[in-house]
Amino acid sequence: MKKLLSLVLISFFTVTAATAQVDRIDPPFWWAEMPVQELQIQLYGDELGLYRASIDYPGVILKSQYAVDSENYLFLYFDISPKAKPGTMKITLTHHGKARTIDYELKQRDSRVGKNQGFDSSDLVYLMMPDRFANGNPDNDTIEGMLEAANRQDPTKRQGGDIQGVMDHLDYIKDLGMTAIWFTPIFENDMYPEYGAYHGYAATDLYKVDRRFGSNEEYKALIDAVHDKGMTVIMDMIHNHIGDQHWWMKDLPTKDWVHDFETYGQTNYRGVIAGDPYISKADKDRLLKGWFVKEMPDLNQHNELLADYLIQNTIWWIEYSGIDGIRMDTYVFPYEDYMARWAKEVLEAYPEFNIVGESWVEGVIAEAYWQYDEPGVDDGYNSHLPSVTDFQFALSTRDALNENFGWNTGVTKLFYVFNQDAAYADPMLNVIFLDNHDMSRIFEHVGKDEAKFRMLYKFLLTARGIPVVYYGTELMMGHENRGGDDEGWRQTMPGGWPGDSRSVFSRNGRTDKENEIYDFASKLGKWRQTSDAARFGTTLHFLPEDGVYVFFRIHDNQTIMVIMNQNDDAKTINAHRYREVLESFTSGTEVETDKKFNVGSDFQAPGKTTLVLELD
Ligand code: CA
Repeated sequence: MKKLLSLVLISFFTVTAATAQVDRIDPPFWWAEMPVQELQIQLYGDELGLYRASIDYPGVILKSQYAVDSENYLFLYFDISPKAKPGTMKITLTHHGKARTIDYELKQRDSRVGKNQGFDSSDLVYLMMPDRFANGNPDNDTIEGMLEAANRQDPTKRQGGDIQGVMDHLDYIKDLGMTAIWFTPIFENDMYPEYGAYHGYAATDLYKVDRRFGSNEEYKALIDAVHDKGMTVIMDMIHNHIGDQHWWMKDLPTKDWVHDFETYGQTNYRGVIAGDPYISKADKDRLLKGWFVKEMPDLNQHNELLADYLIQNTIWWIEYSGIDGIRMDTYVFPYEDYMARWAKEVLEAYPEFNIVGESWVEGVIAEAYWQYDEPGVDDGYNSHLPSVTDFQFALSTRDALNENFGWNTGVTKLFYVFNQDAAYADPMLNVIFLDNHDMSRIFEHVGKDEAKFRMLYKFLLTARGIPVVYYGTELMMGHENRGGDDEGWRQTMPGGWPGDSRSVFSRNGRTDKENEIYDFASKLGKWRQTSDAARFGTTLHFLPEDGVYVFFRIHDNQTIMVIMNQNDDAKTINAHRYREVLESFTSGTEVETDKKFNVGSDFQAPGKTTLVLELD
């Protein structure tokens, strides 16, 4: 536990203590005139817990300092008033008459235009894993002193993709109509090779970009470059766990910094039990305190020093890098009061910002529970989280076209996706997707049926919410005979690596089919940017009949009609049935084919097709 130290320390005698050795200072620097006034500094070094700090800097007060179970840590809390100017603060550490002064920089805040923009339903998000997208710098594939080297022979291991690789292909992403990029985590994951931490979710240093991806400076430069292209960046963070090679694990600050694996074992992964009025304490404990896997120690966010550290780490990255949003991993596994505090404090500091929490649960009520102010469960809990990952959308949509039409099956499943939206505080902020880095690719999931794939892509881009496209989907990527696991759905982009036999990043490197799908995705993505109905419209839908689901998105003077016909054959669309919308219109232009439809009377919807008609 932490221990508050007296601020006034009188030394009665002097011994030959060595000068304080400071191995780490987290955060490495801070800024003046920040939207939060408190600053926690974690100092780490041999016996630093024995030292007492003092400071003399205009506008800055040392409020408190804590020694902890390990004598090698000292936690300092400062109040940085709005009057404090940028400069170098001198922090003096004293022990038995020995003093050492360390410099701590308060930087000038960066006033670059375009920082911290947030994201919403006007966005189309491209999700990628930096290790798997493109290798722009083969020199950083293997870094001396880091535990895992790149291994192109083994698809379950690190491939060498990096920040430069993304930088090299921003135009490719933008040309798809994407407006935002979500990268899986870029934190240092210096884990042993057997584990395979290329995915980034086993952080070993929360203040450092993994050097196999690049440097902190390169990450910041990438975000600037993305902003210059008119797109935004969503950063992936993890507060539930760290990698077991995190430097803390060699010398934990406190005994309760992580939950005890011997006591709690592995988590039950069932975020669905939050909000459950009947749930046992044992199951709740197992969810919250069990480890995600043995290699990922479970952080105890009820330790206040750790909670403050994590929240401040988030604010540091937002300020440092200019990111526009966060995707918080495993949102349902940490203590929910901590996650609520985190979201609230981050959004109070950066009101334009947005956060989506990974809420992989079963059922709409459980999903909606994690969105702020959700109306469904009256237990007093407010997550303050704007966006949830709408797994109910994903799971229903993935299966809908693999089933025959019925009362609850086929396209009726798509109807149900929206039918229960009253459970959400704001379903327009739900992040929607067909697949991601933890699921089979959608093309594979629909049995490599191109018609189904195209139907769902158009559905994704016209449904309410914030659509996310998993990299490679724009090429209709499948698992390429690599099996039904991570190595199947996380493969590298051909052309991203020196020596690849072709490059999908150029038209002449793509197959004819890939060009066809790329053009399809690009046209729809760019169209979506111009469509207020698709981005902001209210939804009006009709019960599916005979394998046909029809919904409208309506926004001021623009209305789109989306018709999903899952039958092999064409079906007649009865204009009279949809007259409450159609009576104001005479024709519709299909956004993919530019074909005109006369919607004033009955018309034919082709089989296994989604039509998106702009009505006029
Ligand atoms: Ca590389």
